[in-house]
Amino acid sequence: MKKTLTIAGSDSSGCAGIQADIKTMGALGVFGMSVIAAVTSQNTLGVTYIEELSTKSIITQIEAIYDDLAPDALKSGMLFSKDIIEAVADILKARNKSPYVLDPVMVATSGAKLLKDDAISYMVEKLFPLAYIVTPNIPEAELLSGMKIECQEHVDKACRKIKDMGAQNVIIKGGHFNDKESVDTLFDGENHYEISAVRVITKNTHGTGCTYSSAICSYLALGFNLLDAVKYAKQYITSAIIYGAEMNIGSGSGPVNH
Ligand code: PLP
Repeated sequence: MKKTLTIAGSDSSGCAGIQADIKTMGALGVFGMSVIAAVTSQNTLGVTYIEELSTKSIITQIEAIYDDLAPDALKSGMLFSKDIIEAVADILKARNKSPYVLDPVMVATSGAKLLKDDAISYMVEKLFPLAYIVTPNIPEAELLSGMKIECQEHVDKACRKIKDMGAQNVIIKGGHFNDKESVDTLFDGENHYEISAVRVITKNTHGTGCTYSSAICSYLALGFNLLDAVKYAKQYITSAIIYGAEMNIGSGSGPVNH
């Protein structure tokens, strides 16, 4: 059985973070493992508290995994602070040989900050060069590229800028645009590929980014090439949003349905 690892934050509501990652990996038939970097106290209405784990805990969690059951692919999500990013970067650089999907999680669906301001440039400097693919949404891509993104031409330009920061591949997720289709743009350094799906109107989008990057990670672990992994992951997240659109879980932004 193929093994995948998520290094991310816990979401007590079960909608996003580590919990969404593990649900996705299980649904896609890979063995999901987790390194918890921070614990959020959270429901569908918002985040009330964040506690980061010690770097010793994070380093020993990652070492325990690489000493015994190294992943076939891995992803990172909420890493929260400079210290955590440095610890993760050092150990991945030394030990990881598998495709690494970096979801540059910055802000929760509810608006809470999941990455400290002073950690953003650090994430770019230390982790982007280790990443096989970086998966920003539009607000994250705007912050990273320093440009306003309002049309496809802007998306293509931002892809280039983010790729130039050191990642091997970039996908900018178009979910935050308000078109009928949700179009994501994958850039591999040579070509731009547009991957589209129907836009589903629902309040249940809490954890969509986590689910998508975990699905890409799972399909890479299963041996698919990048373009196919992204296409299948897009189908998975779109189905999960459709099947979760009418669910009543909490009174705020609820989860997708795995
Ligand atoms: N990671 C954690 C721990 C979170 O709580 C959240 C959002 O609440 C996210 C990541 C990002 O969520 P999304 O997948 O909705 O972008």
